[in-house]
Amino acid sequence: MSNANVVEVEWIKITGTLVSYYFICRRKLWLHAKGLNLENVSGNADVIKGRILHETRFKRESSRDLDFDNVKIDFFKYGDEVYVHEVKKSKKFEEAHIWQLKYYIHVLQNRGVNCFAGVIHYPTTMRKIDVKLTNEDKDLLGKALVDINNILQEMCPPAKLNKKFCKKCAYYDFCYV
Ligand code: SF4
Repeated sequence: MSNANVVEVEWIKITGTLVSYYFICRRKLWLHAKGLNLENVSGNADVIKGRILHETRFKRESSRDLDFDNVKIDFFKYGDEVYVHEVKKSKKFEEAHIWQLKYYIHVLQNRGVNCFAGVIHYPTTMRKIDVKLTNEDKDLLGKALVDINNILQEMCPPAKLNKKFCKKCAYYDFCYV
């Protein structure tokens, strides 16, 4: 298999969650991508809270979720254009959420969909953020995707972050205990 093919295969693996983790912690991105999926361990309180929020506040809209290839969009609305919507529990990692949504817009555009913007919902604080994908964003996103692809080729996980928020991370025990 040529190098080009290897790169293509890895591109397909890049999910919105991986893009989001890239902006939070590259080690978390690597661990998640390699199958150490501790966020989905049954009983994880944050995951349960997130699901309850989504299913109670956005029950009607969630019937319009969009799930294809590497993309799973919470719900979408459409008129002349398609608007993607994501529901998040806390705005602690707002920048990562914004890039995740920009990535969804980018993927949809690449598929020929008339999508330029979306909204992130933080129902616990009744906040919404409007997100657009600019040309400058496309350049930055392109660089991030190349970087993510390179991280996925690494044999060992990137270094620990040693940040305060590590204590709340699903991978804390793996990293520090
Ligand atoms: S505990 Fe910290 S270093 Fe480890 S994966 Fe989570 S955020 Fe990254």
